Amino acid sequence: MTDAAALQERTRALLAAHPPATTDRLDFLRARYDAGLAWVHYPVGLGGLDAPRSLQAVVDAELAAAGAPDNDPRRIGIGLGMAAPTLLAYGSDEVRSRFLRPLWTGEEVWCQLFSEPGAGSDLAALGTRAVRDGDDWVVDGQKVWTSSAHTARWAILIARTDPDLPKHRGITYFVCDMTDPGVEVRPLRQITGEAEFNEVFLTGVRIPDAHRLGETGDGWRVAQTTLMNERVSIGGARIPREGGMIGKAAAVWRERPALRTHALHRDLLALWVDAEVARLTGERLRQQLVAGQPGPEGSAMKLGFARLNQAISGLEVELLAEDGLVYDDWTMRRPELVDFTGRDAGYRYLRSKGNSIEGGTTEVLLNIVAERVLGLPPEPRNDKDVPWKDLAR
Ligand SMILES: Cc1cc2nc3c(=O)[nH]c(=O)nc-3n(C[C@H](O)[C@H](O)[C@H](O)COP(=O)(O)OP(=O)(O)OC[C@H]3O[C@@H](n4cnc5c(N)ncnc54)[C@H](O)[C@@H]3O)c2cc1C
Repeated sequence: MTDAAALQERTRALLAAHPPATTDRLDFLRARYDAGLAWVHYPVGLGGLDAPRSLQAVVDAELAAAGAPDNDPRRIGIGLGMAAPTLLAYGSDEVRSRFLRPLWTGEEVWCQLFSEPGAGSDLAALGTRAVRDGDDWVVDGQKVWTSSAHTARWAILIARTDPDLPKHRGITYFVCDMTDPGVEVRPLRQITGEAEFNEVFLTGVRIPDAHRLGETGDGWRVAQTTLMNERVSIGGARIPREGGMIGKAAAVWRERPALRTHALHRDLLALWVDAEVARLTGERLRQQLVAGQPGPEGSAMKLGFARLNQAISGLEVELLAEDGLVYDDWTMRRPELVDFTGRDAGYRYLRSKGNSIEGGTTEVLLNIVAERVLGLPPEPRNDKDVPWKDLAR
């Protein structure tokens, strides 16, 4: 039985054996994983202790008090938030043991090869092909909007393995080696000036069948695990009260009394309350997650996150008056992570435009909430029984 006291004791033993002040960061993270204190709800041997997820807070508090290094979760968000739950749910023992440890320690960055030029919201229409060749699959196609492809060592990939079946049924899910010579990554410059995401061209990429997740043809179901977790991980980061974007806008208000008006005050207060409601809703969602996989509620959370980020960053630019038009850096950087609070107001304003597109657009998430949370009639879907090869493209 692993309870809070036992976890506290285990964490203290880890700290005593590997004092953070004198232990190399990576050595500490590997030791933490091996002690089952990485994600306590994961199985024994895979960085966890089969303990309730809620007890992670006990470990984190002990480690933070001792000044222990963390695994820089923002840098490896796709791995932690999306690849890991899918590997855990569908990977073989070998696959889980091979990939989860370096994923968690941040030694190996992951990216998500899902969207294509002709398949975004309608992801199941994707055309990247995977053809079986002996013990391998050979993959050809093009992906787009792939965040972190330029830093990633591995990717989660969905590809079409049977074009004769309707679009949702002929898809298979793989782990793709980003160092394969057939993988070409090209930057895509965004409205912010950065190239945080990429086009990825796949030409004759070989993937061993052992790196398939789930059954052949069952990739759509496997992808749901990734997508449900993606929505929670995009909108669901834990932040303190008045943390994140609202903290930045409130700071401008406090620091620049000359720019205050009643109307701006009213808008700021309304957004402050909305941000606090969203923060507390996130806490509740995390508590629900303790009980299992995220459901469509994650879509509602992500919807709110996108709206709020856009509204708050818009208000911050307004509060700054003409200073809000100044942009700190147009260099085409290739960032490793999205840092909403590390840059200026203009960056936040421009970058948050993507929040209502990434991880499912606002319109598509509204459909999910309408159908799966509110039980409203579904959208007409006339193509779901038509073989993929016969669909108009
Ligand atoms: C910052 C950022 C990072 C991203 N990172 C990744 C990544 O790492 N990996 C990855 O695979 N993808 C990534 N994406 C891609 C993202 O998932 C897609 O852009 C998104 O799913 C929308 O697809 P699309 O761009 O093809 O737009 P489309 O699907 O063509 O949509 C165009 C418009 O039509 C609307 N629309 C479409 N269908 C419906 C419908 N049924 N009902 C009502 N309206 C509809 C949409 O809401 C949208 O306004 C990223 C996107 C962004 C912006």
